Amino acid sequence: MSSNIQVRNVEIEDSVWSEVEKHAKEEYPLESCGLLAGRSDSSKISKIYKIKNEAKNPRIRYKMDPKEQYGAIKDLEVKDLEIRCIYHSHPDMPVFFSEIDDKRATLRGKPVFDALYLVISVREKKVADYGFFGWNEEKERFERVS
Ligand SMILES: [Zn+2]
Repeated sequence: MSSNIQVRNVEIEDSVWSEVEKHAKEEYPLESCGLLAGRSDSSKISKIYKIKNEAKNPRIRYKMDPKEQYGAIKDLEVKDLEIRCIYHSHPDMPVFFSEIDDKRATLRGKPVFDALYLVISVREKKVADYGFFGWNEEKERFERVS
C-alpha cells in the first residue's frame, strides 16, 4: 500500500519523503533546506535536492547555498524536471510560514516559484509535524494548504 503524500497537484513518493525527514533530522538542531522536483507531465515528486544551508544563523534561518542551488537547477534542466516544492525545517519550532519565509518566497508581492513550500517541525531530532503552504491567487498571499 502506498502512503504517498498528496497535496494539491503534488504527490511526494514514500522514498523521497523519507529523505526529506532524514535530512531534517540530520541537520537538527539546524535548519535543513532543499528542493523537490518532478516531471512536468506528472504530479509525482521523484527527485530531492538537499541544499546546504549557509545562513549566518542556521539554527533559526535558512539560506540555500547559491552554488548548490544553481547546480540543482542545471540538473533539473538536463533531466527535464520542474521544481514542485521547496522545503526547510524549523528546529524546536512549530509549523508556520514566518515573515522571513514569506519574504524569501515572494518578489514584489508575487511568488518567485510556482511551487508549494513545505515546513517540517523537528523536536528532539524527530519530525514532530509538517505543513504545506501555497499561494492563494485571490488573497495574494501564502496560506497553509495541508
Ligand atoms: Zn521557516
